[in-house]
Formats: sequence, structure tokens, C-alpha cells
Amino acid sequence: MSSVQPGCLWVVATPIGHRDDFSARAVATLREVAVIAAEDTRHSRPLLLHHGIATPLIALHEHNEREVVEAVVRRLQGGESVALISDAGTPLVSDPGFRLVRAARAAGIRCSPVPGACAAIAALSVAGLPSDRFVFEGFLPPKSAARRARLQELAGDPRTLIFYESSHRVAESLADMRAVFGDGREAVLARELTKLFETVLDEPLARLAERVANDPDQQRGECVILVAGRGEEVDAKLAEGRRVFAILREELPPAKAAKLAAAVSGAARKALYEG
Ligand code: SAM
Repeated sequence: MSSVQPGCLWVVATPIGHRDDFSARAVATLREVAVIAAEDTRHSRPLLLHHGIATPLIALHEHNEREVVEAVVRRLQGGESVALISDAGTPLVSDPGFRLVRAARAAGIRCSPVPGACAAIAALSVAGLPSDRFVFEGFLPPKSAARRARLQELAGDPRTLIFYESSHRVAESLADMRAVFGDGREAVLARELTKLFETVLDEPLARLAERVANDPDQQRGECVILVAGRGEEVDAKLAEGRRVFAILREELPPAKAAKLAAAVSGAARKALYEG
């Protein structure tokens, strides 16, 4: 019987933007392991070097995962410890690694997380939408018909919905969400989190979809879309009325501001201001 103890597969989260969102334990682990399996070695190397990590890298991405998994599991069985990272955030969350973790566990290898950034959770933490129950949907289908069909399946879900979306499809996806979920469903677009142009917009879907469609700057960078679950709809007229009232209230007496905001939005004046 071999006396070699199997190594550990460390699944290590890396930053989603800000380079310092890297835990001390993540850095120490990545320095100590025999090898780091990375989604894109050229992408990860500068970040690793910035944190003084010179450990050898091997590529593990969706196109070679099957072949590399076998070799990595053999190294783990031989007693080496290996870390798994992806380009950003938590491996396996819309990123490669599932096959490796599954194979390692099946081989009796210890798999241990070194947790850290995840865009879905970072977005949820600042969205201001109910966060006690939520669904992570990852990326929607790229074609509109399939996307709308998927959204339709989610339309009755009372939990907050979280989607990843690429910047060149964000306007189309928001338009489809508006069509399927309705104008008044609350939604949040969280862009470029932890980076220079971080933006978090929260509006009813009708307004958010229009704003993003009309502003190319909102169609840049990396983004997470969050939509309130069914039952969290705000009345679109009321939301508009409140927005207009808040603006007019800075210049006018409240009764006058409410009267004008009600006329502009179609919301009931009493719902905007009781006076
Ligand atoms: N594994 C990653 C995680 O833990 O969040 C996600 C990887 S997935 C391939 C990349 C997607 O995550 C992007 O298209 C975007 O939807 C989202 N994302 C990543 N970084 C982000 C950031 N800084 N701000 C907003 N969304 C981000």
C-alpha cells in the first residue's frame, strides 16, 4: 500500500475587479500548492504576480477540461496539492471546474473552498431587492425566442432572480424581461462592480430597459441583472409619480408638486402626497 497521502484540491476565488479583493488565505494557498489550474493562464498571470504568486500554472478551460481532469486527479492522488481558479470570482459559478471537482470527489480527494468574490452575490448585496430567497440563473440563452421562453418559466417565481449578461446583449435582455415580467417589476443593473465605473441602477423594468437602450455607456463592461420576484411589482404609474414628485418637490410646495406629478404620471395625487 502506498504511504503517499492524497493532496487537496483547493477551489480558490479570485477578485471580480478590484485586485485587492483577494483574501490572505487565497494568496497563501496559491503560493503553497504544487500547481494552479487556471481558466486562462495569460489572463491570471499578471494578477498572481501582483500578489507575489509564482506557482506554475496549467490551463483548464471548457475545451480541455475532460483531458486535464484525469492528469490533475493523478497528481492529487500522487500527493500533490492543486488549486483551481477561474478568470474572475468563484470557480464553477458560470465558470469551468465542475468536472474536476466531481472527478476529484469521486476519487476520494479532499476538496476545500477558499471563498471570496462572486459577482452574483456582490450584486445582490447592494441591489436593495429581497435577499432572503433568490435564484441564480447564470446566462440566459443568446437568442430572443429561447430567452423569452426561459423568462416565461421564471415569471411566477416569487424569489429575486439573478442573471449574468454580456454587455452587448444587456439592452435586448432587459427589453425581453420587460415584455415577459411587465413594466412595473423592480429591477437592478449592477455594472463593473468593484471597478472604476461601478454603477448600480434600480428602476421598474420599463424605465430601466428604456434608460439602458438609450445610453450606450450602460451597455459597457460586465453586468449582473437582478429582477424582483413575482409579487414585488411596483405600480409603474406610482413609481413614476414618486420620481416626478421628488424632483418637483425641490422647487414647489408639496401640494402643488403632487398635483403636477399626478397629472404627468397618471398616479393618484393622494398616493403621492397626503395634504
Ligand atoms: N465566476 C464568476 C463569479 O463568481 O461571479 C462569474 C464568471 S462569468 C464567466 C462572468 C460574468 O460575471 C460576467 O459576464 C458578468 O455577468 C459577471 N461579472 C463578473 N465580474 C463582474 C463585475 N465586476 N461586475 C458585474 N458583473 C460581473
